[in-house]
Amino acid sequence: MIPSTFTYQKVNSVEEAIKALSSADSKLLAGGHSLIPTMKLRLSQPSKLVDIGSIAGLRGIKEAGAEIIIGAVSTHQEIASNKIIQSKLPVVAQGAASIGDVQVRNKGTIGGSLAHADPAADWAAVILALDATLAVQGSKGSRKVKATDFFKGMFTTALQEGEIITAIHIPVAAGSKSAYVKFPQPASRFAIVGCAVVKNGEGKINIAYTGVSSCPFRDSGAEKVLAGKKLDAGTIQAASNAAVEGMSILEDHYASEKYRKHLAKVYLKRALSAIA
Ligand SMILES: Cc1cc2nc3c(=O)[nH]c(=O)nc-3n(C[C@H](O)[C@H](O)[C@H](O)COP(=O)(O)OP(=O)(O)OC[C@H]3O[C@@H](n4cnc5c(N)ncnc54)[C@H](O)[C@@H]3O)c2cc1C
Repeated sequence: MIPSTFTYQKVNSVEEAIKALSSADSKLLAGGHSLIPTMKLRLSQPSKLVDIGSIAGLRGIKEAGAEIIIGAVSTHQEIASNKIIQSKLPVVAQGAASIGDVQVRNKGTIGGSLAHADPAADWAAVILALDATLAVQGSKGSRKVKATDFFKGMFTTALQEGEIITAIHIPVAAGSKSAYVKFPQPASRFAIVGCAVVKNGEGKINIAYTGVSSCPFRDSGAEKVLAGKKLDAGTIQAASNAAVEGMSILEDHYASEKYRKHLAKVYLKRALSAIA
């Protein structure tokens, strides 16, 4: 339970962080609530930690035109308690407040969670349903990655070597009617099943899951069932019937494949009922 030896560098800008990352085996440190446990288990053995937690430009939440921009090192707690988020994107506050416990929410960051890409992490479902975009910066410059293109598999994302998530951009119109519900693991609170639903600016309902499969995903099958329809008991049941069909479902000692699939359908029903 003791990590292997590493050096530590605190940086004050994204440019400094990118430079520091260029040395072999360096890793970014944000809240440390995913990285440090893996280092203690020696699943990860970086030779250098580059601490981005104090970069002022990466923290904070602001409204800019039609979107809300969340800095990558904003903690789950800062997001959950932010007034703009609470009034304009309540599903984001809901998702943030459901993460772990007070200590985890006070230290863990949205950027760290997205980069880590734990298949049971809550942020993934929320930002997928919201059609968010991630701003990313590396030695070759900046780029934007759609949330729907970001998650590539278990603990695997579209981030390239040395790239840093700098912010998450969320269209404000996406938040009008939305909900995030989850069946939490009783100790860690990670999602055994987490389901986010969002009625977007055009009135289409986006559905996203975390915890269900090795990679978070948008459920296009269930979304199709609802396309152009009014939400009522019949359409909610039809979407629930179609939910997670054809997906490869995780099975572990918390929940069998059959039980997880059942939960996914029940939680979609709950989420849709909350916005009907
Ligand atoms: C007891 C416990 C309970 C938890 N419960 C939940 C839960 O219920 N739901 C949930 O979703 N999560 C849960 N978590 C995880 C928690 O939310 C973590 O804080 C989060 O997953 C990682 O964020 P971090 O800031 O701590 O990242 P770190 O641990 O600092 O970093 C994680 C990884 O991301 C990389 N990284 C960090 N920031 C960036 C960035 N800006 N750009 C690119 N790469 C970056 C790091 O190099 C590292 O590889 C729990 C954790 C613990 C310890």
